[in-house]
Amino acid sequence: MPELPEVETTVRGLARYLDGERLTRVMVKRADLRRPFPPNLVQALTGARVTGLGRRAKYGLIHTDRETTVVFHLGMSGRWRIDPEEVHKHDHLVLETAAGHTLSLCDPRRFGSVDLIDTAELGVWPPFAALGPEPLGDDLTVQHLHYAFAGRIAAVKLLLLDQRIVAGLGNIYVCEALFRANIDPRKAAGKVSRAALGRLVPAIKAVLAEAIEAGGSSLRDYAQPDGQLGYFSKRFDVYDREGEACACGGTVKRIVQGGRSTWFCPKCQK
Ligand SMILES: [Zn+2]
Repeated sequence: MPELPEVETTVRGLARYLDGERLTRVMVKRADLRRPFPPNLVQALTGARVTGLGRRAKYGLIHTDRETTVVFHLGMSGRWRIDPEEVHKHDHLVLETAAGHTLSLCDPRRFGSVDLIDTAELGVWPPFAALGPEPLGDDLTVQHLHYAFAGRIAAVKLLLLDQRIVAGLGNIYVCEALFRANIDPRKAAGKVSRAALGRLVPAIKAVLAEAIEAGGSSLRDYAQPDGQLGYFSKRFDVYDREGEACACGGTVKRIVQGGRSTWFCPKCQK
C-alpha cells in the first residue's frame, strides 16, 4: 500500500510531465474507483493548464488554471504510468498533454479515488478538514504532540496513526519512527516524556525524508517508456523484521495493536 513517501515521489514524478502543461485529452475509462469519478471530470480538465502539483496527507493534488484541483488517492494498488505503450484495462483515467505525454492512473483493485474540488475549498473539503499537521511541515512540533497526547491513555503508536493528530503517517513509518526515538509503541501517549517527544519529532521527519530520498533516486527507473511512478524498495530497521536481530543485541518482536501489526525492539524501546 502506498504510504506518504510513495505519494510524494509520485507527485514529484508527475510534476515533470504535468506542471505548466495543457491537458489536450482526458479519458475516463470506467464509472468509478472506490467511488464514482466526478461526472464533469472530462469537461473540466480538457484544455485546462496544470498550474502546480502538491500533496496533502496521502492524497496527490493536481491544480489547474480553472481554479479546480484534481485530488487523487492511490488506494491499495494505484500508480501512475508514464507514456504507457498501450492503455490497458486497469488504466482508469488517462491524461494527454500538449507536449505529447500520456499519463494513466492504473488501479487494478480500485481502492483509489479521484475527486475534483474547487481549489479555494480544499481546506474545508471533508477528508481534509479534520487532518492534523503535515509530518514534514513546520506545524508538527514537540509542543503539538505534547498537547495532542496530554492525558491520553491510548498507546502512542495508535495515536500516531490517528490522522487528526498527524496527517499521512502510516504503519511502516510509525513503527520506524518509534524505533528510532527509542519509544515503546505500547506506552500510553500521555506518559511519553517531553524528552522522548523531542526525539520522536525529528525521527518522524527523518524516516519520511529518507524514504522520499530513496524514492527520488529511483526516478530514473520510471523516466522511460512504460515507467511506473511511486513504488521503490526500502530497507527498514524493524518493520516486517520479526525475529531478526536489532543493533542493540535485542530481537525484533511483532505484536498486534488496533488490529494491525507493530514491530519493535523491547530491549531498546522503553
Ligand atoms: Zn534494540
